Amino acid sequence: MKNFQIWDCHTHLFPPEIYHNWDKYAARDSTFANLTRKPANGKGTEEAWVDIEEALACADEAGVWGLGMQGWYWNDPGLMRMHNDYMAESLKKYPHRLCGFMSINPRFGEEALKEIERCAKLGFSGIGELGPGGNGFTFESPEFLQVLDSAQLYDLPVCIHCGEPVGHMYPGRDMTPLAPLPELIKQRPGLKLILAHMGGGLPFYEMNPKYRGAFGNVCYDFATNPLLYDIRSIRAVIHMIGPERLLFGSDFPLLLYPGKCREADMTLFVEDIREHAGLSPEEWRLVMGENFCRFMGLKETGSQHMTEISKA
Ligand SMILES: [Zn+2]
Repeated sequence: MKNFQIWDCHTHLFPPEIYHNWDKYAARDSTFANLTRKPANGKGTEEAWVDIEEALACADEAGVWGLGMQGWYWNDPGLMRMHNDYMAESLKKYPHRLCGFMSINPRFGEEALKEIERCAKLGFSGIGELGPGGNGFTFESPEFLQVLDSAQLYDLPVCIHCGEPVGHMYPGRDMTPLAPLPELIKQRPGLKLILAHMGGGLPFYEMNPKYRGAFGNVCYDFATNPLLYDIRSIRAVIHMIGPERLLFGSDFPLLLYPGKCREADMTLFVEDIREHAGLSPEEWRLVMGENFCRFMGLKETGSQHMTEISKA
């Protein structure tokens, strides 16, 4: 049986300085405050803060080798840079186990473009997670399109938070219309995109014959899946777009099974997928790691931690 590495392409690792002094930083950024405030009743989902070492320990426990660190949609340029500095430091410490996506807010204009240039030199491999709702731009905003230009210039894949247009309400639900995305994707065949949270449902719409072949450089992750959809949705997406463009992402350390576990954990989701998503061994290998490594051009390293694909 061939071995491979499991990569979680969608995690958020904040500088400990920020979550240890949450009040101070929440006061600087109200979107951050609203999305990460602990629920008053102690129920429901919440961010379970971990530093890089704690995150890697959770990954070890779940048999996950690599973490895609996604940035955050800061509305304060100082916090954007501080978060990027923390991720850059972590990338230096654990280069084989991490892949960094820089925090960028397109609305910072020139400052965002300068930050892309700075972070590209610091070893980041991508841009994101961009948050249109959190930052107040749409998929047609000129400042967003400028960031895409810059991403293509530096050959950086872009991960975008996509909100589902239909579903229950929750804090931070992103209602930015997804409708402009297919045209944008057609116009920029060289742009590599990860559309997070199953692209808010776009896999269905990419089956439109007018878009046939246009989505080759578009991947989807299924971060926060247990909070949004039945686990069978993973199989459903594979039915629509095939197994090669779907990526395991979790949104770790966000609590995905808040009724079952109220601390940072990766094992529950990995086991849920293994037991209930109905993936063949080949699909498991692609979705859980190989697709991401291929898409990001990551070298397979650290073979001592390679993970068996067999269920046994
Ligand atoms: Zn997201």
